[in-house]
Amino acid sequence: MRYQAKLTIMDLTKTSDRTSLSTGSSVPDSGVYAVSHPQHTLPREVTLLRDQTFPRCSCCKEPVFYKLLRFAPAATSAHPGVFAVALYELPELNRETDEPTVR
Ligand SMILES: [Zn+2]
Repeated sequence: MRYQAKLTIMDLTKTSDRTSLSTGSSVPDSGVYAVSHPQHTLPREVTLLRDQTFPRCSCCKEPVFYKLLRFAPAATSAHPGVFAVALYELPELNRETDEPTVR
């Protein structure tokens, strides 16, 4: 339903410490974060590690906002190789296939 999307966007306009997670901030806790970036279609969720920097959008300089969905404290030690590469930017997704755009 259409009005539900509007409510989601309004929530993002509240400013507090909890909602100030955005591009350039350091990740406070390892976990899965919801991605909010109305300008482009980005992955809905990303796994980030503590002390990384929240990635930017690969298409523009507008900030991307993040919200912690669930902690992932075991991710660092269980599979160190999987997270060896830090994310610096998020690819825009193809709106039809939801696949990352190949450049
Ligand atoms: Zn963007």
